[in-house]
Amino acid sequence: MLLWEVGGQLATPAMAAADGAKPVPKPPAHVRCKNFGCNQYFDPTRPECTQCVHHKSPPVFHETAKYWACCPDRKAYDWDEFMKIPGCQRGVHSQEEPKKKFLGGCDIREENAPKRLDDDIPIDPRKKLDKLRAGLQLIGVEEGDFDRAWGRLAARHGDLGIVVNKLGEALTDALRTMQEEGVNTPD
Ligand SMILES: [Zn+2]
Ligand SMILES: [Zn+2]
Repeated sequence: MLLWEVGGQLATPAMAAADGAKPVPKPPAHVRCKNFGCNQYFDPTRPECTQCVHHKSPPVFHETAKYWACCPDRKAYDWDEFMKIPGCQRGVHSQEEPKKKFLGGCDIREENAPKRLDDDIPIDPRKKLDKLRAGLQLIGVEEGDFDRAWGRLAARHGDLGIVVNKLGEALTDALRTMQEEGVNTPD
């Protein structure tokens, strides 16, 4: 008979089965919380059971400073520092896309002007970045390296659409360089 070790004691298959008498339901697909600064995965069927610490307002990348619009007293000057700024809101995780994901320099200057900025910022680049991150992770690229790279681009260009374009150019360059190197390599 097969024996398992369970918590330091030997258990028979029958005991192990009795332990898990109820069939274990397939874990539901988890989704990433879209609240600002959260990024945690959660079970979308039970958001009320989650605890989410996040920011009320979008990130602002202005020249070298990075901060959350709701917490302007906590400014960071590098990516790691920025990611460590604790959330100012407590609540539950959410799948709902906050209206505006990103504030660039222009938005700060116009902060007190009549609002008509939010709606035409496409959320698309953010999704592209997510997919790209997932794909790169699959081939062994560190998530942190990727996040720092796009964080720096975001800080410099202030627009995620440009960030996506720059990443596309950089990766194309890398691939073409690789090709040329391959061609030039003597046998
Ligand atoms: Zn905040
Ligand atoms: Zn959350």
